[in-house]
Amino acid sequence: MRALVIEDDPTIGSGLRRGLARAGISADWAKDGVSGLEALATTQYGVVLLDLGLPGLSGLDILTSMRRGKDQTPVIVVTARDEVESRISGLDLGADDYIVKPFDVDELAARIRAVLRRRGGHVSTRMECGEVSLDLASHVVSYRGIEIVLSAREFGLVEALAERPGTILSRGQLEEKLYGWGEEVESNAIDALIYSIRKKFDKDIIRNIRGVGWAIPGKLS
Ligand code: CA
Repeated sequence: MRALVIEDDPTIGSGLRRGLARAGISADWAKDGVSGLEALATTQYGVVLLDLGLPGLSGLDILTSMRRGKDQTPVIVVTARDEVESRISGLDLGADDYIVKPFDVDELAARIRAVLRRRGGHVSTRMECGEVSLDLASHVVSYRGIEIVLSAREFGLVEALAERPGTILSRGQLEEKLYGWGEEVESNAIDALIYSIRKKFDKDIIRNIRGVGWAIPGKLS
């Protein structure tokens, strides 16, 4: 799962990213409202952390436009202590929760998990692909009777392959799915992740198609 942080303040933005990382989620970071909406239009996010006071479009404008356009992605509003009224408007407009600045990253991680669990009742957090099954809320992957909580990146890789059963994804496609904007990616990063996932389960969990990429078979064979 991927998150979107819409926040113009660099300190708070990086705090939000740390909180997300604690919850095992990697994030894209939009620094104003317009680029936030653009990101939402092109990418399916698992959760949005939304600042209310943004240059240009405000957080409430973004939330209104999301819910009007039937975008039901979970939203956690980030507010200042004195923004009680906008916090209430946010909840009325369909935000799932809010967090008050300055926040504690562990508390943020716990709130994100709680929102995803609550949403779990409405939206399935389970995903199946052949013999591999994933729980998107807890990051548990099961394969041939083994259940393991994977790291955010490992989970992201299995999720990316499981979203398209039997489809081969290249190194470039996997890098794009796993790493946020402007993040430095080491040339062997994908190989290292695949190595560690196979070591935890079995090498058959991910098939390698030499020179092309990797896949998880969709049908039991
Ligand atoms: Ca702000």
